[in-house]
Amino acid sequence: MKAALIEMQDFAAGTSSRSTKLVHGGLRYLKQFEVKMVAEVGKERAIVYENGPHVTTPERMLLPFYKGGTFGRLSTSFGLRLYDFLAGVKRDERRRMLSPADTLALEPLLKKEGMRGGGSYVEYRTDDARLTIEVLKRAVESGAIAVNYAKAEQFLYDEKGKATGVAARDLIGGGEYRIRARQIVNATGPWVDTLRELDRSKKGKTLRLTKGVHLVFDGSRFPLRQAIYFDTPDGRMVFAIPRDGKTYVGTTDTDYSGDTAQPRATREDRDYLLNACNGMFPYLRLGERDIESSWAGLRPLIYEEGKSPSEVSRRDEIFVSPSGLITIAGGKLTGYRKMAETVVDRLAALLRADGRGTFGPCATRELPISGGDVGGSESFAQYAKRAAAAGEAAGLTTAAAQRIASRYGSNAKAVFERIAKRPAAGGGADLSDEDYGMLMYAIEEEMAAKPADFLIRRTGALFFDIGWVRRNHAAVIACMADALQYTEAQRAEYAEELERELKAASEI
Ligand SMILES: Cc1cc2nc3c(=O)[nH]c(=O)nc-3n(C[C@H](O)[C@H](O)[C@H](O)COP(=O)(O)OP(=O)(O)OC[C@H]3O[C@@H](n4cnc5c(N)ncnc54)[C@H](O)[C@@H]3O)c2cc1C
Repeated sequence: MKAALIEMQDFAAGTSSRSTKLVHGGLRYLKQFEVKMVAEVGKERAIVYENGPHVTTPERMLLPFYKGGTFGRLSTSFGLRLYDFLAGVKRDERRRMLSPADTLALEPLLKKEGMRGGGSYVEYRTDDARLTIEVLKRAVESGAIAVNYAKAEQFLYDEKGKATGVAARDLIGGGEYRIRARQIVNATGPWVDTLRELDRSKKGKTLRLTKGVHLVFDGSRFPLRQAIYFDTPDGRMVFAIPRDGKTYVGTTDTDYSGDTAQPRATREDRDYLLNACNGMFPYLRLGERDIESSWAGLRPLIYEEGKSPSEVSRRDEIFVSPSGLITIAGGKLTGYRKMAETVVDRLAALLRADGRGTFGPCATRELPISGGDVGGSESFAQYAKRAAAAGEAAGLTTAAAQRIASRYGSNAKAVFERIAKRPAAGGGADLSDEDYGMLMYAIEEEMAAKPADFLIRRTGALFFDIGWVRRNHAAVIACMADALQYTEAQRAEYAEELERELKAASEI
């Protein structure tokens, strides 16, 4: 098939850079008896990991339980065993039940009062935006076309009312383009109903948007050693996850009706999460001053009457409109490959029925994503070590070379090459070689067009190293302005946009 994707913002700027950043089956959905979904998404975890070990890392999660809490030893043990079974979990990653002393030894910051023990199981930590971009890069390597900052504004139809393309606007260079296609897929997350409205096919089931917020603390203030999944007094579940010297906590789950592109964390969100943390980690006495950064995202859930936000199912569904527009809605990031497989199989059947050719079965189950050609997950650590040698040869320290090798996998050499060829003069002279290499790679291989694309979606720095962003954003802007030939107006606009993002992340 010939495929093209247009994205009106930057790639992953919607929900896919704003999640809890876990590739997981959704243990908590077992409480709602979503057995089939947990089994399906749970099994996808292993596939996502195998095909991209550079963006996904197994990490033990600890579920503590307390006297009078939602869970006890028996229900935790049963729930985790069921999860292992449904998700087909590997032997060494299966659940372990722990005594109170062992639970506290794993994480001494946990509340001691009423502690009855813990259950430990494996989830996978990811970088959601990088995962999305690596999938996209792999598609482009296989012949797809992908363009960011291009918005579908209208559908085009033939005389029988069949959708035959879109009129799209280039939001950077300006201008309108008509893109023709035999089949069109609406995979716009929180915007799927907006597009169904354009197609006059928003009937039956609709979306319900709920907002989820995460807060980031510095490791010196919240020195969490072990990822924790805990229940809150109102019966919800919250994650606290250590990552790169920081700890992040989330999420909230509240109905949302504001601007879809700019969901923001509010004081209520902040207070809810601070209270939850101070309940479970009482010795820290965290306050609003301790929050370094934050983000908010919208869950595109399918509306179900009478259910509270956290009870609404996370299942995905496909709608086909009379014009032939295929909409995929709901679901989880973890299930992205399976959702895509379902849609593409459907497209193949439609094209075949139309006499437009036959297509083989979907091949993504065993297809490494970009950067994932590392010989499988088991060899990844060794691979990264070997790959880092090229970075050291380009003048990086061992630690910097290893950071790049771990983040970019089999693409690390392309980053190292840019460092080795760094010109003596040019924009962004204040950037370190490591940052320069990543930035040039992001511009040339990952279509980063604006500073925020690099600082949020290509590196996650705005969330996990906001101090670095404050110190280096001027150098990043200078380097990008030089490489991408910004006009003065663009330079000012993008700098302002970044300033707004910095404010939104740090001032709540
Ligand atoms: C707080 C929170 C935590 C979550 N945690 C997890 C988790 O830990 N693990 C997990 O697996 N899932 C998680 N999820 C769910 C997961 O993030 C989403 O299911 C997934 O990211 C949705 O991806 P999507 O591609 O459907 O939507 P999006 O990522 O939003 O992509 C849709 C894109 O369409 C673009 N678009 C819209 N209109 C147009 C147009 N007219 N023209 C062109 N482009 C357009 C948008 O700009 C947007 O980027 C979480 C969600 C939230 C909100």
